[in-house]
This record gives sequence, structure tokens and C-alpha cells, in this order.
Amino acid sequence: MEQDHHTTLTPDTPVRYLKGVGPKIAQRFEKLGIQTLADLLCHYPRRYIDFTQPYSIAQAPLDTECVVRAELLAKNGGRIIPGGRRMDRATAGDEVSTLELTWFNNPYALQKLEIGQTYYFQGTVSGGFLRRQMINPQVRTAQQIESSPLQPIYPQTEGLPSGTIARCIRQLLDHAELLGEPLPEEMLKKYRLPGKAEAVRSIHCPACAEAAAGARRRLIYEELLVLQLGIGLMKHRAAAATSAPMRRIDPAPFWESLPFAPTGAQRRAVAEILADMAGEGAMNRLLQGDVGSGKTLVAAAAIWACIRNGYQAALLAPTEVLATQHAEGLNRLLAPFGIRVALLTGSTKAAARRTTLAAIRGDEADLVVGTHAILSENVEFARLGLAVIDEQHRFGVRQRGALAGKGESPHLLVMSATPIPRTLGLLIYGDLDISVLDELPPGRTPVKTRCLSGSRRRELYGFLDREIGAGRQVYIVCPAIESDPCAPSEGALKAVKTYYEETAQALLPNRRVGLMHGKLKPKEKAQVMTDFKAGQLDALVSTTVIEVGVDVPNASVMVIEDAERYGLSALHQLRGRVGRGAAESWCFLVSDHSGEAVQKRLKFLCSTTDGFAVAQYDLETRGPGDFFGSRQHGLPMLQIADLMNDTRTLHAAQSEAAALLAADPLLRAPEHELLAAQVERMFRQAGAMN
Ligand code: ADP
Ligand code: MG
Repeated sequence: MEQDHHTTLTPDTPVRYLKGVGPKIAQRFEKLGIQTLADLLCHYPRRYIDFTQPYSIAQAPLDTECVVRAELLAKNGGRIIPGGRRMDRATAGDEVSTLELTWFNNPYALQKLEIGQTYYFQGTVSGGFLRRQMINPQVRTAQQIESSPLQPIYPQTEGLPSGTIARCIRQLLDHAELLGEPLPEEMLKKYRLPGKAEAVRSIHCPACAEAAAGARRRLIYEELLVLQLGIGLMKHRAAAATSAPMRRIDPAPFWESLPFAPTGAQRRAVAEILADMAGEGAMNRLLQGDVGSGKTLVAAAAIWACIRNGYQAALLAPTEVLATQHAEGLNRLLAPFGIRVALLTGSTKAAARRTTLAAIRGDEADLVVGTHAILSENVEFARLGLAVIDEQHRFGVRQRGALAGKGESPHLLVMSATPIPRTLGLLIYGDLDISVLDELPPGRTPVKTRCLSGSRRRELYGFLDREIGAGRQVYIVCPAIESDPCAPSEGALKAVKTYYEETAQALLPNRRVGLMHGKLKPKEKAQVMTDFKAGQLDALVSTTVIEVGVDVPNASVMVIEDAERYGLSALHQLRGRVGRGAAESWCFLVSDHSGEAVQKRLKFLCSTTDGFAVAQYDLETRGPGDFFGSRQHGLPMLQIADLMNDTRTLHAAQSEAAALLAADPLLRAPEHELLAAQVERMFRQAGAMN
């Protein structure tokens, strides 16, 4: 530990105070979300390498990481190989076989070892039955293994491998008490959990597998308790009396202004919303409805009622394309009532922005539609009464909190097309009431979905050409290579452009084909969308920028190239861009992937248009990983707990959190100070707890 004499360590001490952590390493730690000593102590290992159960050379599984116990028989010398790398070799053996060991660019590894001694070699065994070898093994002595039999493997990042992280954490273990004990004594007793410092020490450096498991159990419990407390606190805040008391308003005039009748489900949802808004507490409602069920119209009715009550409303959308579309659509619906709609996005120019901000502050804008730019601090509403968040799954609990913080306690409506299994829904949206749109507007024909291989692309384009000839428009979604973190973004751009030029334009020579991708300037994006909407473009080649929300009813065909790259829910969202008009609509999933599982997955999508069934299938076959990426549900990232597998602990944590909050609703009691700080830390990122 390298520190000034006068620095005392605190949980908030930056990691660069550790020995061996300079600015560069500190930066890499930051990539892992680690800034402070507390962050580092709470960076838990993903798994362990168990040195207590070594294999003999002959029995070691091939091509899998394992530990082999053998005697060092000979050092075979080092040399520089072509290319300038240094190579050191040795031979180890047991009663039956020998193992060739090779290290590259690591002359020290072998120096420390003695011939005739027995060691534990960890690495991947390769080769045949007669000649087995291991490249760059890690070596341990029996003594080392006695003191730490399980080697922790940490989530790592480039330039910061697990071993380096382990060394940094080891320096800190004597200071684990720094973290304090957030859990009440009785709780530890009741669930037979180890104390915090002990658990942290054990998870990083367990004496045995049971100790690691016990530590894990305790830390999972704590994390889930903190999560539940955070959600509980938000709910409590939300349940506060609203600062925007409203009269109950009859939606009839709004319904009558429409060119079509609302569906029964839309009427029901609006009735529930208006009742909430006329209540004493602030509304906190989730509107769930499959793609195309008409959520925007429900939001429009709520906004209309809010503004009729003399308040302002805000609508938050996840992309600029969608925000722009909503601003136009809502303006069309609401302008007849004299409602003034403003658009605010990241690309709103400075001058326009100033005017808009002044209008919002001065109560001259009734409805503000925008992207997360609305959340920025200098946006001040005169009288915010209702905040609507579209495509909630793209935002999070955190943003939800930040937007709610804009008014004192405005009413909140969040909308999502991602159906979530009920029990999990209760957890994730535990602070929300739910309205469901379980009915599509009339006159829709279900989208016909087909899988095909790239060899039939010419045939497919023939079909597209005929559809365009019949007055329809088509989307062609190209692989979003951008989603691959290893692919340079230039490469991604090239892929879309190349496809656009060499495939789409070439195969639709007489049609107007547009190009849309994430790298376009917002203005250019808006222009492309406007052209497409106005029918100035016949086909739109796009990355998944158009995945959410876009609404062009005349578009009747969706082609998705390299369909196997996406989860079914994402494909379902994309498919939802068509089938919005009366025309028969099609979705083509193009894939050259012949894997059985992939084909089965795509076939499943062909067999159903039910978003709930799709989500369920995704959850079962791809596991909760996708589903519970923080992008999907917007909960804070969890360090150690797994919402799907730790359900029993979750339920325990849920009831304990409820009991704690019943006694201390704002978590202000001195004995809850540490817990409150943990909640704060977990939810801190976007200021959800403001
Ligand atoms: P989503 O729920 O996916 O956000 P949208 O709000 O974009 O769906 O609505 C899909 C389409 O259905 C839009 O073109 C909208 O104008 C239309 N729509 C919504 N409600 C009705 C209705 N009651 N009758 C006819 N069309 C409707
Ligand atoms: Mg929508």
C-alpha cells in the first residue's frame, strides 16, 4: 500500500493509491466501472480455478483449461524464435506420461522452478495421446496451494488481466473492514450469513469451496436487498402526493377528433390512466402492448388530458428518429386543440435550443418531445404534470427517476412492447401499476414470416420489385456489425454502404433506394425518414436504427439480412415495422447459418406473431442473459446476483426490504446509513434517486 502519511484509506479512496496502479491502469479499471477502493473490493471473481483436484497428465482433458500435477524433469533452454519472440521450454512428467511446457516471452517463469520438484501447472493441454503439451502454463507450488487453493478469475479488460486485478485486490484484503457492515446483526443471524469483511475476504481468497459459496450467498443477498430497497424507495417517492393534482376529464372530445375509433383496449387503458391522474398520489403506470397495438394514441390521450388541466407534458423517446416521428404525429393529433408541441434532441441547434428552453420554462410549450436531452439539467419545466417514456425497455429505472425528478412529483407513464414474464415483471416494474393493450387495431392482417437462405436473394428482390410496383414500400435491414465491439466502426459503415450499393441498388435498379445508418447526422437521418414516409423512397436499407417505434403504414415488406444475429424479440420488433396498414405484409429472415438451433429459432418466429410467446421462447432458449442485460430492463447492473437463478434469495430480500422500509420509509435511521449509501451507489449513475 503506497500512501501519503496523512492519507487515511476510505472506501472512496481512488484506486490509484494502490501500489502498481498508475494513471494508465487506473483508466483501465475505470473501464470496468472501478474507481474507488470500495469498487475494487466489490469486483468479485466470476469463477475459480480449483488447484486441489489436479489431473495426472494422461487423464487431463484435452483443449480445456485444467490443472495438472507433475514433476519438473528438465529445462530445455530458451531461444529467440523467428519474429523475435523468446521461447523457453521444459519437460514435466509423472509415473505414466510426460508433458512439454513452453513459455513465450516469459523467461522468468522457468527461472524460479527447480528440477525434481513437483508443481501444479495450470493451462490448456493439447496434443495427442503420446505427446502432450501446455503453452504458457501458470505454475504453483504445493505450499502456495495450501494457502490459496482456489484461484479467483476476475472479469477483465484489455491491458488489465485477471492476474493483475487479483494482485491489486490482495493488497486490499487486510482493509476489507473499510466497507463496514451494512446488514443489521439480526439479519445476519437469521439467515446465517457471514459478516461483510469476512465475506469479501472469502470471495476473493477462499479457504475452501464452502467458504466461497457462503461468501457468495451473503453478497448476493446483500445486493438483492439493496436493489429491492432502491425500488422500494422509488415507489415511496412516487407514492407521494402528486404535485400536479388534476380533474377527471372525459376523453370523448379527444376520441371524436380522430379519423378512427379507439380499440376497446385503448379506451380501457386511457380510463385507467385518467383515473390515476385524478387521484391523490402521482400516477406510476406501465402501458404494455405488443408492437403495433397503438400505444402512442393512449399516450396522446393522457397528454391531452394533462394539458387540458393546465399542466405541461413531456415525452421521452430512445432515438432521435423516433422522437422526431412522435413530435410530428402528436402535433398532428394535438394541434387542433391549440396544443403547442416542442421538439428537443441532442442535435437541436444552440439558438433553437435556447428558444425552446425558454418556452419550456415560460410555459409556452405545452408538450416537449425529445430524447434523453430532456433529462439534462438545464431543462426546467414551468409546470410539468405528466412524463411519458416510450419504449421503456430502452431506458431504465434510472432515467425514469431522473425524468420524474423534473417536476416535484409528476404523473409517470412508461410504455413498453417487451412483454416480461409476470413474476419478473413484478420485480422489475415493482413500483408500477400495469395497463395492457391486448388488442390490435382492426383491419390488420398478421405479417407472414418466411426464412430463406442468401442463395434466394435474387428471387426475393424480384418479389420486392413487384411489391414496389404495386405501390408498397420495403425495409431492408442490414447486419448491425456496429454491435460487434471488436469491429471497427468504419468497417460497419462499409458493410452497410457496400450492401446498399452492390446489392440493394444493383438488384433494384429502377427503384429509389435510401440508406440509413447510425453514423448519419441526425439531420440526414430525419431527411431520409421524411422522404421514406412521404413515399419519395421505395426501399430503405437500414441498420437496426429503425428497430424501435418507426411507423410508416405503407411499408409492407421487411427483409432482415443475417437474421441469426438478433434475438427473437429484436426480430419481432423489426417485424413490427410492417403490417401497420391494410395491405398484406411480409417479413423475410435471410440467413446462411445452417445450425440447427438457429434454424429452429427463426422457424419459431415464422410460426407466431405473438410478442409474448416470442419473449418467452427467447427467455427459455437464450437464457436470461439477453433479457437481463441492463439495456433490456433498465435495472442497475448487478455485480453478483442473477435475477433468474437467485429467486429464493430474491424473495427473502424482497420481504426484508419491505419490513425495513415499513419501519424506516426513507432509510434515514443512523443504523441504516450504510445501506442507504449502498442504494445510492447502485442507482447513482443517472441520478435516479434525486
Ligand atoms: P405501438 O404500440 O407499436 O407504439 P403505434 O402507436 O405506433 O404502435 O400505432 C401503430 C399504428 O396503428 C399507427 O399507424 C397508428 O396510427 C395506428 N392506430 C393506433 N390506434 C388505432 C386505432 N384505434 N385504429 C386504427 N389505427 C390505429
Ligand atoms: Mg411505439
